[in-house]
Amino acid sequence: MKWVSTRGQAAPLATSEAIAAGLASDGGLLVPERWPKLAIENSWAELPFAELAQKILLAFLSTSADLAKICQQAFTFPVPLRALSDGTQVLELFHGPTCAFKDFGARFLALNMKTLPQSGGSPLVLVATSGDTGGAVAAAFCEFTAIPVVILFPVGGVSKRQEAQLTSWGDQVRALAVHGNFDDCQRLVKEAFASHWWTKQFQLISANSINIGRLLPQMVYFASASLQYQQRFGRAPGFVVPSGNLGDGMAALWARQLGFPIRQVIFAHNANRAVPDYLLTGSWSPQPTIHTLANAMDVSAPSNFERLRHLFPKLEELRKVVSAVSVSDAQIRATIQSSSADPVCPHTATALYVRHQLQDRDWVVVATAHPAKFETIVEPLIRDSLAVPAHLQTVIDRPTKCYPIGASLAEVASALK
Ligand SMILES: *Cc1c(COP(=O)(O)O)cnc(C)c1O
Repeated sequence: MKWVSTRGQAAPLATSEAIAAGLASDGGLLVPERWPKLAIENSWAELPFAELAQKILLAFLSTSADLAKICQQAFTFPVPLRALSDGTQVLELFHGPTCAFKDFGARFLALNMKTLPQSGGSPLVLVATSGDTGGAVAAAFCEFTAIPVVILFPVGGVSKRQEAQLTSWGDQVRALAVHGNFDDCQRLVKEAFASHWWTKQFQLISANSINIGRLLPQMVYFASASLQYQQRFGRAPGFVVPSGNLGDGMAALWARQLGFPIRQVIFAHNANRAVPDYLLTGSWSPQPTIHTLANAMDVSAPSNFERLRHLFPKLEELRKVVSAVSVSDAQIRATIQSSSADPVCPHTATALYVRHQLQDRDWVVVATAHPAKFETIVEPLIRDSLAVPAHLQTVIDRPTKCYPIGASLAEVASALK
């Protein structure tokens, strides 16, 4: 199985090379050269998550012995598809170590480090985060590897509990609070990957949602939930996915591409509305980032957009499968307030809001983070306190350290000394 660039100007890569590279050499994103044919069976609905992961990912990775072990180690927490008290079907992706869906990709990526081709420099993970990626990557790399991690996050752009998950890992993880927004953080990471000095000094590993090492395992929960839903209700569901960089949304579409029973996908965005506008008008014009209550989705120009265009080059074809909605902070607040029986995080609230607007049945709302990560937003709205999962409490209680820097690559380099 080979990976090619969305821009078509790069030599095909094997999966391990594609994970190591992150981006294609022509600046495009890596996509499968051909989609593997899976002989999907309805009985897969009952498989343990790690076993289903193995069946699906084997089509993409050649090392089957390693893969079994990697999946058993990575996917150790439940992934329930359950009904809220009003009957809404929700896929809960927040039962991993850092209470957000980023744990799936980060853990799989970290466990794949041993299988990657070696290069000259010493390995270093460099990752920009809008809130949840950094914590998941730090947790996974500390649990499974000795590779140092550098996290860039926008100062003031993450919740207090998210910040604790970025800054409390001791020497293996250096958290840099960048004076700027998430797009600045992403730009600095891109600059480092393009820089001669950085790439000579280090074997840089990209852990952002463009890395197929993160996208591949995310397909598995869409596959699993679609089979379970079909088994329970006899029909294929659509998914409403809280979306920022479109990693999760692409994973849903890739699972659909593999043949899993996924009818449609709706991207629920916050006020950053480049994708909803594109679907409406056909023109791509990202605007400056807007800060919202759903901070992990504060992305003005989603980096996976190129993959979306590549999968559906024709706008009419895209519109048959995908729609996108922008949800305001006021709508997020109202949704959290009205869901006090089953509290949701602000990101999940965007998808729940969209679900409430739909008349037809057969939708699954994707719950991307635990509400207790965003207690300062959620608790006043539901007028109640949220129970904190034990593994989140452990992180909150640890000492933290972070380094404030300006938004320049030179400052990133000097913060590493
Ligand atoms: C990252 C994140 C999102 C957005 O996911 P993308 O893959 O970037 O679209 C949504 N909700 C939460 C809680 C997140 O951490």
